[in-house]
Amino acid sequence: MNVRVIGKKAKGLYARSRIPGVDWSVNHYVGCAFACRYCYAKFIARWKNYGEWGRWVEVKINAPELARKHVEGKVVMSTVSDPYQPIEAQMKLTRRVLQYMDKRNELSILTRSPLVTRDVDLFKLFRSIEIGITINGFIGKEKELFEPLTPVHRARVSALKELHDEGLKTYAFVSPIIPGISDVGAMVEETKSFADYYFFEVLNLRASGKNFQRLLRDEYPEGYAVLTDEEKFRKFLRELREEIKRLGVKAEGIETHQRGWEFVKLQSPEGGEQGTAVNEPEQESR
Ligand code: SF4
Repeated sequence: MNVRVIGKKAKGLYARSRIPGVDWSVNHYVGCAFACRYCYAKFIARWKNYGEWGRWVEVKINAPELARKHVEGKVVMSTVSDPYQPIEAQMKLTRRVLQYMDKRNELSILTRSPLVTRDVDLFKLFRSIEIGITINGFIGKEKELFEPLTPVHRARVSALKELHDEGLKTYAFVSPIIPGISDVGAMVEETKSFADYYFFEVLNLRASGKNFQRLLRDEYPEGYAVLTDEEKFRKFLRELREEIKRLGVKAEGIETHQRGWEFVKLQSPEGGEQGTAVNEPEQESR
């Protein structure tokens, strides 16, 4: 697929984030050629005037110089893009941002791509760093319908293991969870020996856009019904919480994207917090 690359000079790289627990976001790429059909960040295409989401990437060409700044608090790379999307293999902008970034910054990286393992040497220079890999187990028809251009599940799992084996702190971002499709238990069993912790996220149906909502309703009416019916969702969430508890892994929580639940904190096996926080996250794609 042809992707238009637009170079821009930015004034700053660190933007204040409204995601709970995150202080700063870094997006040296805006736009993402992985083009996931449900992507929550595609609303940005409406402001940018570059055309359809997934067909363009805006590149902050001076991002490496801007990365030098020291900031206090958690920095997440990236929230409206994927830092290891296809153009990164040649452009190496993420790598240069990491080279220049103040190594005292508390960095959290999230990606769907095994290309992330290329930068292990740089990750090891940071005082505080964690690397998250998004997994969702989509294969076959679901992969083709939901995210045909992303790296396959197996490659992501291998990348997570490789990062862990290198001594880096890792987490698995299990997202998006779609009722009736996602096998959360299987994904956790497959990764729990090399994921330090988990973060779960149910599909944000509202942010996935009208086309995706239609697709889900037509192809997976039972999953769609759970996401749009309060009673069915309550049952689904209860079962999901029980399953995660049974799996016995450390988990930050479940982002439900449903009013009344929002972010559900989970009890860690060591006896952490349990309860419900009501934080509505900003429309970023994690
Ligand atoms: S969900 Fe992430 S990887 Fe997929 S298109 Fe959006 S930003 Fe890219």
